[in-house]
Order: sequence, then structure tokens, then C-alpha cells
Amino acid sequence: MEQAESPNQARPSEPVRRLDCYVGIKPCGCMVAWVYDDPKYPKDVAKSVADFIKRGYSVERANTDDVRHKLSKCKCAKPSNDPSSPVTVAR
Ligand SMILES: [Zn+2]
Repeated sequence: MEQAESPNQARPSEPVRRLDCYVGIKPCGCMVAWVYDDPKYPKDVAKSVADFIKRGYSVERANTDDVRHKLSKCKCAKPSNDPSSPVTVAR
């Protein structure tokens, strides 16, 4: 329900879900990063968002409860040229 163009789905009885965080979405569609938009620490939030962008993620505002179950590690990309991944080929 991220689209604002479906007014027929609006339910007045449900509380409005506040967009209280930012998520980072990889080009493949995997949601791999999340940061709570804490008004107390705007600099930290901005830093995280900037980091998401630097990594090539698209950043979107979201509701924590909505995205909690969507967050996962990207399993699409194959580990290649990643110096941090523990790939050791010894024979
Ligand atoms: Zn992926």
C-alpha cells in the first residue's frame, strides 16, 4: 500500500501509518537497509541515508511495521570481487 492512488482502500478506522524510517532498496528490488528517522539524531539519519545512496540503493520513506518483514539480505547477487566475503579457494 505504498501507492497514494488507491483511495478506495482507505480505512478510517485504521490509524494512519507514519513514515518513520528510511529504507534502502537494491536495484534488484531487495530491501537490505533500514534506518529509523529519529528526530533526535537527524545527522545520523542523514549519514545513513547518504550511505545507502553511496551504495547504490534507492532510498524511500517507509513505515517500520510495514517494512520489518520485508527486510532481508540480498540473495540475488553472487559474491564476486567482494573482499569482505570469506571466499577462500584453497586446494
Ligand atoms: Zn537482490
